[in-house]
Amino acid sequence: MIKGWVRTTLLDYPGHIASSVFLGGCCFHCPMCHNADLVLRPHSLPDIPTKTVLNYLEQRTGKITGLVFSGGEPFLSPGLPDFLRQARMLGVHIKLDTCGYLPDVLERLLRQNLLDMVAMDIKATPVQYARLAGLAQVDLDRINASIALIRNSGLPYEFRTTVVSDWITPDSIAAIADWLADAEHYVLQQFRAQDCLDPAINQKSPYPVSVLLEMQALAKRRSSM
Ligand code: SF4
Repeated sequence: MIKGWVRTTLLDYPGHIASSVFLGGCCFHCPMCHNADLVLRPHSLPDIPTKTVLNYLEQRTGKITGLVFSGGEPFLSPGLPDFLRQARMLGVHIKLDTCGYLPDVLERLLRQNLLDMVAMDIKATPVQYARLAGLAQVDLDRINASIALIRNSGLPYEFRTTVVSDWITPDSIAAIADWLADAEHYVLQQFRAQDCLDPAINQKSPYPVSVLLEMQALAKRRSSM
C-alpha cells in the first residue's frame, strides 16, 4: 500500500511538522503528473510496511503532529481505513490529498471522523476535465459530490489547480473559481515541465510567476463576487 514516504516535512500540512506517505494507484492519468511509477506501475515499487511508519511516528509523539496521505489516490487502498485508525490512536492529525473521484469512500471516512483536513485537486474546468485527468471521459457528478462533501465537512480544506501553461488559461481559472463559488481555500500550483506522465508536455514552458499571481488574484476576485 505505501510506496513512498517522506519521514519529515514542514511543507505538506500547514501548521504541522508532518510525515507524508504515498499510496499506489490512481483513478486518473493526468498528463502533468510527476508520479508516473506510483500511478501506472505501483507494483514495481517496494512496499513500505505501515508498521514501520507507525513505529516512527510513535517514537516521535508530540514532535511529528501530522500525517499526510497522498498518492496516487489514497482512497484506492483497501487498507487505508485501518491505517487511519491506527494513526489516530497515536494522536496525529491526518490530512489526505485526493483527486475527488471516489466520493463514497470520502463520505465514509468523514463519517467515521478519520480525517482532519482534505486537499482536492480541481484539474480543470468541467469542459476540460477529461483532458487534464488523462481520461476519455470523466463523471463530473463524482467530482461535484466530493466538492460538496469537502465544503460541508466542517474541516479545513483546500482545492488546488496545477496551472498547465496554454491548457489552463485565465478564462479557465475564472470558470473554476465560479464553479467552486465561494470556496474558502482555492490555490494555484505552478506546473513543472519535468518527468511528466505524458512526456510530450515536458516541452511546455511554465507561465512566469507574474502570470500565476495574476490568475490567483483573478480567482480571489471571482470568489468574492
Ligand atoms: S496528478 Fe494526482 S490525480 Fe493525477 S494521475 Fe497523478 S496522482 Fe493521480
